[in-house]
Amino acid sequence: MQEEKRKYNNSGGNIAASVNNNNSNSINDSVNSNNINNNSSNSDNSLKPSKRNELEITNINNNSSNIDNSGVNHNINKIAADDNLPSEKRNNDNGSSNLNIKYGKITLIGTGPGDIKHLTKTAVEAIEECSVIIGYSTYLKQISNLLREEQKKLHFNMKDEITRCEAAISKSMEGENVAVVSGGDAGIYGMSGLLLELLDKKSLIGKIPLDFIPGVPAFCAAACSIGAPIMNDFCVISLSNLLTPWKDIEKRLDFASKGDFVIIIYNPKSAKRKDELTNAKEILLKNIDKNRPSAIVKAASRPDEEIVITTLEHIDKFDLISMNTTIIIGNSTTFVKDFYMITKRGYGNKYNSLNHR
Ligand code: SAH
Repeated sequence: MQEEKRKYNNSGGNIAASVNNNNSNSINDSVNSNNINNNSSNSDNSLKPSKRNELEITNINNNSSNIDNSGVNHNINKIAADDNLPSEKRNNDNGSSNLNIKYGKITLIGTGPGDIKHLTKTAVEAIEECSVIIGYSTYLKQISNLLREEQKKLHFNMKDEITRCEAAISKSMEGENVAVVSGGDAGIYGMSGLLLELLDKKSLIGKIPLDFIPGVPAFCAAACSIGAPIMNDFCVISLSNLLTPWKDIEKRLDFASKGDFVIIIYNPKSAKRKDELTNAKEILLKNIDKNRPSAIVKAASRPDEEIVITTLEHIDKFDLISMNTTIIIGNSTTFVKDFYMITKRGYGNKYNSLNHR
């Protein structure tokens, strides 16, 4: 049946090997974003539960004439946790007091997993509206068809994230509306957090108008390529120890495997990091059966997409694994059928008609 899948997969010859030896169907075994603390992290610690109950919605109007050259009116409904907390700070200073600088808006735009067709309409419109487009060269190339000649394009290398943010801030200070593009969703291991951290350090939060446009995360694209593997609680763990100590990654893998989550692995391997995936697998195998269905999806949604459906014990054995690969390890209910990886939602307990398994 897997051959069938190969026939209708667009990537033609590039498709999937499957090392799933098991023929049976059953292989095996935020806090609400409104609840915002706009201030430094310390202030939140001081909140007692009773305080939290008193939260109320405050309508913060970031007076557009002061902050936004594009004329966009930012009416933001936030929950102010405390009178002393951020809403006050945000209302007080929208940039007008700061040497009359008219900041341009910075928009963080998720460009999705790679193919331009997965860009949202809002993302396309936001890109069109900006005079400066900043991003890692690969992402800028992916959206090059959307860009007009008069838009300034600032290309950066992979590890230049801080410089990219600095460039965005300085262009905003020149009054330009800036798009910072980031693969997948910009708020998932992307540019959004770094930009906010830098703005915070420079006391520019609340002064520079910001917008965040969601993008399709790579793990969603990867999941869609193999059916419905993420139908229950899941976690995403990046194996990159460039910014996170390996000890922390080990701990997360251990807890995730104990919690019966569907586990999604990002950054499984790079030119310099070759052993992490095998090390991660060994940790997972302490709590998860070696036959647990697992999928390797490279270049999800792109013309060169490749898929392997395998079992946990084999996840580190394939050459296709690179920085463009996402690995999805099922939970204890996940099974494979006809090249689809399916994690049970739990309806089987509710409806007898699904109890045939
Ligand atoms: N912001 C992105 C994640 C960036 S981290 C998001 O929202 O998904 C980069 C990692 O994402 C890569 O190492 C890889 O594991 C995964 N990834 C990105 N694009 C991918 C794609 N098209 N196919 C499979 N995995 C991808």
